[in-house]
Amino acid sequence: MTRKVLLRYSTQKATEPILASVIKKTEILPNILYAELSTKGGEILLSIDAPDKEVDKTIALFKQKGVEVQEIKRAIELDRDSCFDCGACLSLCPTGALYMTDDKSVELEENKCIYCELCVPSCPVRALKLSKF
Ligand code: SF4
Ligand code: SF4
Repeated sequence: MTRKVLLRYSTQKATEPILASVIKKTEILPNILYAELSTKGGEILLSIDAPDKEVDKTIALFKQKGVEVQEIKRAIELDRDSCFDCGACLSLCPTGALYMTDDKSVELEENKCIYCELCVPSCPVRALKLSKF
């Protein structure tokens, strides 16, 4: 099962090789969906495809190392039947999860979504919906 986990690094933890050390220990290679990390701290969003027990172990390791961990239990949906490709949501999306295809239709790559919700109110026809579970 794939689970999404947001890591928040404080300034003190930002320069420690925490991600590398957790990968080495668990031997699970997460997919980095988004990262904004500097010496002042920041965030990394991971997608971890592994059995639940292994993901729990990985989360526990990050916590032990002083990283704040938040599991993301959300989904975003683009209703293509309602969307008329106005593009209003595109510039608001910080990760490029919403993008315009070559034939000028707007699509959503959910793997890149960090669920910031910025796009949702921008849509005049409510074609973007965020659900939390
Ligand atoms: S919630 Fe919307 S704006 Fe935010 S990352 Fe996801 S698609 Fe982009
Ligand atoms: S704002 Fe709404 S209608 Fe416009 S492109 Fe985005 S999803 Fe489609």
